[in-house]
Amino acid sequence: MGNKTIRLKIDGIEVEVETGKTILDAAQAAGVRIPTLCHDRRLIPFGACRLCVVQQKGKSELLPACFTPARGGMEILTQSPEIAKSRRLQLQLILLNHPMICPRCEKEGECDLQSLVYEYGVEETRYPWEKIPFPPDDLSSLLQRDPNKCILCGRCVRICDEVQGVGELSFTERGIQTAIDTDFHRPIHCEFCGQCLDTCPVGAITTDRFDTSVKAWELTETTTPCPYCSCGCYLTFGSKEGAIKRVFSDPGPNRPNDGNLCVKGRFGWDFVDHPDRIKTPLLRVNGAFKEASWEEALRFMAQRLEEVKEKHGPDAIAGVASSRLTNEEYYLFQTLFRKVIGTDQIDQEGGSSDQGLTEGLAETLGFAASTNSIREVRKADCILVIGTDPAETHPIIKNEIHLAIRRNRAQLIVLGVRDIGLTRATHTSPLSPPSIVLQEKPNMEVSLLNGMIHTILEQGLEDKPFIEGRMEGFEPLKKKMSRFDLRMLSEETRSEVENAARAFAKAKRAMILIGSGLGSSLHAKEIAIASSNLALITGHIGKESSGVLMLLGKCNSQGALDMGVFRRGDKGSIMNFFKRAEERSLKALYAVGVDPVTDHADSDRLKKILQDLPLLVVQDLFMTETAKIAHVVLPACAFAEKGGTMTNLERRVQKLNPLRPPQGESRSDFDIFSELLRVLEGPVPGKTPDEVFERICQENPLYRGIQDGEQWPGGIPYLYADGFPTGKAKLIPVEAVTAPPAMEGYPFCLVQRPSLFRSGLLSSKSEALEMVTERPHLEMNPGDAQRIDLADGETVQASAPGGRSLKMKVKYSSKVFPGVITVPCPSSLVDERGMGPVKIEKVHKE
Ligand code: SF4
Repeated sequence: MGNKTIRLKIDGIEVEVETGKTILDAAQAAGVRIPTLCHDRRLIPFGACRLCVVQQKGKSELLPACFTPARGGMEILTQSPEIAKSRRLQLQLILLNHPMICPRCEKEGECDLQSLVYEYGVEETRYPWEKIPFPPDDLSSLLQRDPNKCILCGRCVRICDEVQGVGELSFTERGIQTAIDTDFHRPIHCEFCGQCLDTCPVGAITTDRFDTSVKAWELTETTTPCPYCSCGCYLTFGSKEGAIKRVFSDPGPNRPNDGNLCVKGRFGWDFVDHPDRIKTPLLRVNGAFKEASWEEALRFMAQRLEEVKEKHGPDAIAGVASSRLTNEEYYLFQTLFRKVIGTDQIDQEGGSSDQGLTEGLAETLGFAASTNSIREVRKADCILVIGTDPAETHPIIKNEIHLAIRRNRAQLIVLGVRDIGLTRATHTSPLSPPSIVLQEKPNMEVSLLNGMIHTILEQGLEDKPFIEGRMEGFEPLKKKMSRFDLRMLSEETRSEVENAARAFAKAKRAMILIGSGLGSSLHAKEIAIASSNLALITGHIGKESSGVLMLLGKCNSQGALDMGVFRRGDKGSIMNFFKRAEERSLKALYAVGVDPVTDHADSDRLKKILQDLPLLVVQDLFMTETAKIAHVVLPACAFAEKGGTMTNLERRVQKLNPLRPPQGESRSDFDIFSELLRVLEGPVPGKTPDEVFERICQENPLYRGIQDGEQWPGGIPYLYADGFPTGKAKLIPVEAVTAPPAMEGYPFCLVQRPSLFRSGLLSSKSEALEMVTERPHLEMNPGDAQRIDLADGETVQASAPGGRSLKMKVKYSSKVFPGVITVPCPSSLVDERGMGPVKIEKVHKE
């Protein structure tokens, strides 16, 4: 143990714990159970239920174990007649306003109170009391609340405030009327993460999305990583005979999510049982689909691929894969293209941004990956968030930032075209420094970062010993940055850049979080290099809670890059495939888990282009717009029905555990690729995902020896503590990018805005997420809106050059920079950068 430790005895068992731990922590370390109702290890101890009372040997005083610090030499007893009497009394008091029997409670069999009542033999309450009725909440989406079952432990209130930073629930009224409620008892309107549901120890908060008619003891539990963002949270499914009944968060070791989940992980899995899932292979015959056997479909596909290759060469065939396949599936996919077809024409969705970010870090630091771990964010003193809103894209990281602000008084710096909700709390809390927001026009991220580097060097705030020993290229960087002219930024931004630079340089532990949710994808590589320069010159690399995290797009974006599924040169990009398809030099496209027709800005045009391809194969769970025009449709199974591994954004390699076999005739992408390789008489690298993973570990030194749940390389949580793989890190000056001038007649820049509830095909097929998805709206700076006489809530038309347009209600938002408007992603009005010029006009009612 690195920290100072103490030794004490719990029920005669000697245990060693770090100083600062509580008696409850020590008991848990000793394997001794102490009952609690208000305790949740993710929360600051509250001491409300008094069930955790214990005694010191030889003393009569009762101590609450959850917030009494453990001291060296203590001898603690967790059981005695006095302790049992006190716990019984507490249970009777708790039961005063709680039903004594458990009639039709969803939590039956999983209720901590029910278990304790049985354990302590509390049959009735001895005190006369007329129960006070409270109105239930049956109107909220996803969550139902019955305050009559509430025991006022406050866990829901605390997790919502302390961990989520939302504060939707609070203690209302006072004295015997105290209840937990929303303001004015309105329906819940929040992130719908369900953390309150998860922590509630009784049946006061429940959800009708879970089938509680099946009791806890009838469930089979299967733990597997979440299929949405790249945080890699673990979900534990409770299922019966292959049907999912509910989902819990898994607080086990090596869990990046610390037992927390967001709305997508907790409720968004229902797409796996969506009735629209394709369950049979389909072949287009005379313009219409007919069901086919796997043998038929794969033979047809293989024959057509061979024909194209023979006639037009291997580069006439391209493949695009989603960022949600497993590592083993990517390995087979790239084997199919590189070794059997003989082409490098493969790319993954979201490739330009994720690939740019990882390439940038690889060039400067050595590894194409995030330097640190998600759980380290909470211990940082300064956090710089660039071009993304983690609350919408990576909600568990939003929690980590909130914990850093709340518990560590961290300085938050936000850089980009749009402010994020997290900054609000820092302006109302007297305990944390107010956030610094560096907002400019789109494409100015590199300039703002260079401005920070310029200030640090000018003011001599760089970490000189760290620079001297561990990096090269300092003098050229210094020379280039000395010429950076801060006057290219607005006066207000200039002073904020200086404040941000000082805060970042002076922090003991500083982290940079880069994402691509808000329109910066075109310069992702430059942003990553500039971020790396900033972290390096300030010495914020190679230490715990100091480094750069890349908020990659989807659950296995990192794995796809690790397995080599990325473009090699611009010719191998998705956009180039479409261009070549239009020029008719591309003849066949294999689209796996992607729906370019829906996702492309000019959907109608792309549909026409792909329709004209001699061969279009789509492999997916659903009949997407692209699948509808394909020649062959191959039904893939869901993440909960397959094995393999994925690698999250912090390099953690996580095993998938299937809870049931693939549904209908659907197959895992692994089985489909394996079979196709066999039909094409190509090499099959392994019969099972385990065999292919072994192969990956042999070929890729980063994966060598990695076990389930460990981070590559060698299980280390943060990189570069012992130096850089190439000897020294490289400082590479990057040119400041200036915003392009506005196009005449199109004064606004439209930027796509990510949404917590909608992140692509899977979320669009979730009934639960659909229930809470906000109605699409166009966000606009109030000053801009008022200047063109638009009222909040008014319907407008946004039009791009070329005639494409959309109609939406305007929402005033001071989060967006003047001149910028945001709309939900995906939008047909943006280009490959995720942005585009638009004009805004009022829609006059007829
Ligand atoms: Fe899934 Fe990401 Fe939400 Fe975690 S934060 S539950 S990985 S979507």
